[in-house]
Amino acid sequence: MALEKIDIDALDPARTIVVATGNLHKLTEIRDILSRVLPDVTFVALGQLGDFDDPEETGTTFLDNALIKAEAAVEATGLPAIADDSGLTVDALDGEPGVYSARYAGVHGDDAANNAKLLEKLADVPQGERTARFVSVVALIDVDGLVTYGEGFCEGSIGFAGRGGHGFGYDPLFLPDDTPGRTMAELEPEEKNAISHRFHALQQLSAKLSGELA
Ligand code: IMP
Repeated sequence: MALEKIDIDALDPARTIVVATGNLHKLTEIRDILSRVLPDVTFVALGQLGDFDDPEETGTTFLDNALIKAEAAVEATGLPAIADDSGLTVDALDGEPGVYSARYAGVHGDDAANNAKLLEKLADVPQGERTARFVSVVALIDVDGLVTYGEGFCEGSIGFAGRGGHGFGYDPLFLPDDTPGRTMAELEPEEKNAISHRFHALQQLSAKLSGELA
């Protein structure tokens, strides 16, 4: 669904946060959680304000990449901006695929190839040693450059074959500890949203913004 275009000059920098994502689902999730602690703020997607090139994600951590994306959005719009970066870290692979999750098999966003590569790398790893977690960092930068961020995790393990039709990315292979026997792709979207790494990162950011956390 295309989002309505908004005139950037009509926005009040003190009451607007740009969400640096083209993903409507992420915009909604971020707005739903943060508007509870920032009720006077309007959340707009970067794409609603114009056509901006995505910056290169050259960071070596999820925080680096979230900051690169948020900074680029602040520079492009002159408004405070939020960006997230996420991925999967697998213990038996020393944290791989990590920040390379989206392009693990070479082509950005080729989920089938990424999942096939992960299964191949774990072929000889027994069940008890297939622990992994999804990680998400959500960073907010204001127009003075002040950074506030939240980090969230979803603990689980990697199965031996993909199952389920929901979600995206590594969801068919990932068995969250919170939902024994079911892969992330077998959960309804609301179930995933209640346990996901992004949800926990937003909760932490939300707590920091409301002053509950330092
Ligand atoms: P991004 O931060 O949304 O660009 O996600 C980076 C990559 O991490 C995605 O392309 C997926 O491969 C993986 N990833 C991040 N979050 C999830 C998730 O919730 N489920 C499955 N894969 C994910």
